Amino acid sequence: MRKARISGTDEIVQADDLLKFYPNYNDLIFVCIDEKCSVRMAPACIKKKDHRKPHFKKYRNQEHIETCEYAKLSKLYHQGKNQKLNKTEIKKIGYPSVFILNEDKLEEPTTFQAKYGNDDGVTGRGDGITKVYEFDGENVKFDKSNRVQGIDRIVDWYLGFPHNRDVEIEINSGRIQYRYFFKHIKDFTDPANLQNERIFYGRIMLSEMNRNVFDRYTENVFFKLLGYKDKNEKNVSNYSVKIDKNSISKHSLSRLKNRYNHLFERAFTEHKNKTSEQNIGLYLFVYGKLDEHNDTLLNVKRQYITFRHDEVRKTIIEE
Ligand SMILES: [Zn+2]
Repeated sequence: MRKARISGTDEIVQADDLLKFYPNYNDLIFVCIDEKCSVRMAPACIKKKDHRKPHFKKYRNQEHIETCEYAKLSKLYHQGKNQKLNKTEIKKIGYPSVFILNEDKLEEPTTFQAKYGNDDGVTGRGDGITKVYEFDGENVKFDKSNRVQGIDRIVDWYLGFPHNRDVEIEINSGRIQYRYFFKHIKDFTDPANLQNERIFYGRIMLSEMNRNVFDRYTENVFFKLLGYKDKNEKNVSNYSVKIDKNSISKHSLSRLKNRYNHLFERAFTEHKNKTSEQNIGLYLFVYGKLDEHNDTLLNVKRQYITFRHDEVRKTIIEE
């Protein structure tokens, strides 16, 4: 399981973030997120040298209660990686179906119901979580609301449920299937295939060129991708991505910077030590469009960019 609750404080933590935020995790007691269940959980594979991804597991002699919502959800998350889920299962998990692109900053919903919806899994305080804890702005609760203002949860659905990329997302009052909403930039990607505003993604080049990119220039941040448009003997025209620092808040910028530096250092170190796993890469996901004057430059729209050190699975329904 990816998350657990710290006994005593009720803070919910992701296994991925444990080492960073709780280096003393061995002194803590973790339990299942579902309060009615609260079965004891143990952190596993937390250290960087471990090959499997960090997670929480229950002890062998104890079980989740039969009605444990988190155990049910975890099972679906696990299944979703390898097989297509049916409509009921999808509904149980929930996925972002509306991407709100308003230029105005929307106010955060304040009530529990408005914020988390009233799906059967979470009906209010007492039935789910008493305290919401956020890391890097990513909500780590059972967040099933389907309207999102950022791309993180959209990317999570794309990565986590590769066989269900035929579900639709609404954006600018149009609807599009996830599989068409995302465009992969790899080698020999023709810019003609990168039209419109979409979520573009590709692997980030693991070299000094991409290190500390947030502090290099005053106005912009540039990332160099591995994927390229064409290759001749003189030069390779790699795609790059640009953030206009003035288009996003200082807070968002520093959040992105911290997340990027953390993931980059991890991926770069593994790359140098040749310990990286074959299918895992450092990826950048960006909502934006190609520059009008440079067809290998992608301009990030506002703060819609995120990074993952993960595997991007292919799926049978993808072209
Ligand atoms: Zn449980």
